[in-house]
Amino acid sequence: MMQVQWYPGHMTKAKRMMQEDIKLIDLVIELLDARIPLSSRNPDIDELAKGKSRLVLLNKSDLADPSANKEWLKYFEDKGIIALLVDSRNRGGFAPINGSIEKACKEKIERDRKRGIIGRPVRAMVAGIPNVGKSTFINSLTRRAGAKTGNKPGVTKGKQWIKLDKNVELLDTPGILWPKFDDEQTGLNLAFVGSINDEILDPTELAVKLIERLKKICPGTLFARYEVDEEENTAVILEKIAFKRGCLRKGNEPDFEKAARIILDEFRSGKLGKITLEIV
Ligand code: GDP
Repeated sequence: MMQVQWYPGHMTKAKRMMQEDIKLIDLVIELLDARIPLSSRNPDIDELAKGKSRLVLLNKSDLADPSANKEWLKYFEDKGIIALLVDSRNRGGFAPINGSIEKACKEKIERDRKRGIIGRPVRAMVAGIPNVGKSTFINSLTRRAGAKTGNKPGVTKGKQWIKLDKNVELLDTPGILWPKFDDEQTGLNLAFVGSINDEILDPTELAVKLIERLKKICPGTLFARYEVDEEENTAVILEKIAFKRGCLRKGNEPDFEKAARIILDEFRSGKLGKITLEIV
């Protein structure tokens, strides 16, 4: 199931664009999914963003377990990486962002000052895997920010910089990172949150794996939502959910795929609760 090809051509182009854009910036704002902070991280970012300042944003933190959120924040802090919890759809956790950008770029600002360069804005770009919320984040962050600064001479044509405040400019297009899923666990995590296209995965198989995972990491969740006995075999649980939700084929046979899609949707939209799949 995990032998999935991730559109190599498309991703090669994305990587090339990211390599070009990264030359223009001081800081990479790395968006991760708070429910799977490690699986949603591309390990190549360390190489790509070498020498750049870094800010990690744990996005979709509204869908993740609050106590796990705190532990993940600490995990990044312990590594010396400035990290924040955000909910990009509601601008949740946005207040400290500009301050954190400046904090993350403190050394650069200091270096500039020593060279007599004062007031040169910090330039930042957003990067992350597909579906992690890059566009939502950029739109929410810049909605109330100043107008676009327009193309600048010497900068790749078409690049737009958005002024966040007098010290920070943001590139309006995000860097797209390709997810890494060479082990099954990472691949499943990405699929559960919807970062790997559903069309290339079998939803029933995926839902079965999700049920198994939920039984283990947050017992009681499936019972609370669907009133199913979690001690039962996973296929039986899926069948019961199909009946409870009226997912039926001709002859009153359970429609497993329809039930599977309901479970996946309800997990992804937070209806099953605030669940973090990856624990520190
Ligand atoms: P991109 O591919 O990284 O640009 O991701 P998008 O910005 O298109 O977002 C993907 C989906 O995640 C959309 O349905 C967004 O509404 C949703 N989304 C983005 N940020 C958040 C967030 O912080 N919380 C929640 N609950 N949903 C979010």
